[in-house]
Amino acid sequence: MTVAAESATHKGPDPVAEAARRRTFAVISHPDAGKSTLTEALALHAAAIASAGAVHGKGERRGVVSDWMEMERARGISITSAALRIDYDGHVLNLLDTPGHADFSEDTYRVLAAVDCAIMLLDSAKGLEPQTLKLFEVCRARRVPVITFVNKWDRPGREPLELLDEIEQRIGLRPTPLNWPVGIAGDFRGLIERPGGAYTKLERTPGGATRAREETLNAQQAARAEGPAWAQAGEELELLAEIGADYDQASFLAGASSPVLFGAALPNFGVAALLRTLIALAPAPSAQPDAGGRPRPVQAPFSGLVFKMQANMDKAHRDRMAFVRVCSGRFERGMVLTHAATGRPFATKYSQAVFGSQRHTIDTAYPGDVIALVNAAALRVGDTLYAGPKVEFAPIPSFAPEHFAVARATDAGRHKQFRRGIDQLDTEGVIQVLSSEVRGDQAPVLAAVGPLQFDVVAHRMAHEFRAPIELAHLDYSIARRTDAASAPALHALPGAEVLTRRSDHALLALIHNKWRLRVIQRDNPDLTTAPLLAGGLE
Ligand code: GDP
Repeated sequence: MTVAAESATHKGPDPVAEAARRRTFAVISHPDAGKSTLTEALALHAAAIASAGAVHGKGERRGVVSDWMEMERARGISITSAALRIDYDGHVLNLLDTPGHADFSEDTYRVLAAVDCAIMLLDSAKGLEPQTLKLFEVCRARRVPVITFVNKWDRPGREPLELLDEIEQRIGLRPTPLNWPVGIAGDFRGLIERPGGAYTKLERTPGGATRAREETLNAQQAARAEGPAWAQAGEELELLAEIGADYDQASFLAGASSPVLFGAALPNFGVAALLRTLIALAPAPSAQPDAGGRPRPVQAPFSGLVFKMQANMDKAHRDRMAFVRVCSGRFERGMVLTHAATGRPFATKYSQAVFGSQRHTIDTAYPGDVIALVNAAALRVGDTLYAGPKVEFAPIPSFAPEHFAVARATDAGRHKQFRRGIDQLDTEGVIQVLSSEVRGDQAPVLAAVGPLQFDVVAHRMAHEFRAPIELAHLDYSIARRTDAASAPALHALPGAEVLTRRSDHALLALIHNKWRLRVIQRDNPDLTTAPLLAGGLE
């Protein structure tokens, strides 16, 4: 066989065409807005699973996927991320799960570094809630376009115009409804498409376990069927036309406007419209800029970004798994890649697609897909893997920690296990680990964005590394970046301490509170106390 013929047989589908039919997204929401229910409804509509209830969920719906850790079960929250692939209408939708608890926003942040679009899910009765706002800010900082889905319209809630107003006033995002509800929240009759005006009357199916029946009516039939609710929706639509709330692709992609859809995930109302919108409007994977700002086109040889590390998913295999978002080229199982941070080869004999706790071996993947690589002890969150010409993507910034505690092994005889465990949790990004000569090796300072991270560390140290720890909380709430020149003077001040972050050797000044920081800055204008992150996420 000639070289040309051989490369032709190995060519497989074209990465450009494969990228074009993919959409990679996450759902951002406050706990209880309905993320699990929506995930299930999306998968159901796309027929990825046979009936609702098998994907996700709480209580008795707890199912096949996600929620694998003992602790998660005990707490009823989802700590870890899974990726869900949904095949729909010739397209591949990759839904990256974001942890649902407010304390895990750092983890969520990393997931948002691996998506091309986000669905902002709102509870119709609650509108924008604290975690929605925080996650939206992350999307804005990373320029991730946002589609808004107003959920639970089958229950009493707020006025649709009032919800749009809240979005515009509080986060400065211009809402452009793609459909409009007929019937107030709690008396949901159907959806009118904008523009166009096609009306879909919705009929609830018992239990919501199958597709909602959707019936298309013309204007006359709709007016007869819905009466005053139809007339009111008509008035509201006129108002929307007057204020020019029409969809605009450029401002959506720039993060200045957001297409809005109404619906109810539980009875599967309006979920099909969301799937169609993702395919029609959400951006497909495109060239990713590297750390130097040079784009890596999707047709370039393989490259991928590690956005999550996870250990011990499967008790039988005590492995470390790296979740990688494919950025360019075609991934083929067995490829030997280069780990950009060390220049070392990385074999991919065992790669998997992960559907919650179910794993399937995968052989190929394309831009926008998520692969899970096992035996990935050498990798860290933010690392790049590549084939062909070298590329390194910009590291994923982390949130500024606000909670600090000294960790010690309760059993001094288990110091080796203690060190190994702390190192591993640091590598995985479960917690940031700080140290200083003063505190010594046996008593590192753990830095967390939310206090629940400490519980995860304590649990895993005791159960996974057999090195139970005790934590002594420190009276600091602020971390700032400093430098070698300022460190000794800062360290000597009351209410401040300087430590080195192990992962990147950055010098961090921990400070009692923001008042103390102000006093330090006022009295010592020459000392460096820079915010940890650019982009206002602190
Ligand atoms: P998560 O915390 O965001 O994942 O929220 P869940 O999907 O677990 O939903 C929280 C609660 O809201 C559950 O009791 C769901 O059954 C309920 N729920 C979710 N979507 C809807 C909806 O569209 N209508 C109604 N009535 N309830 C919903």
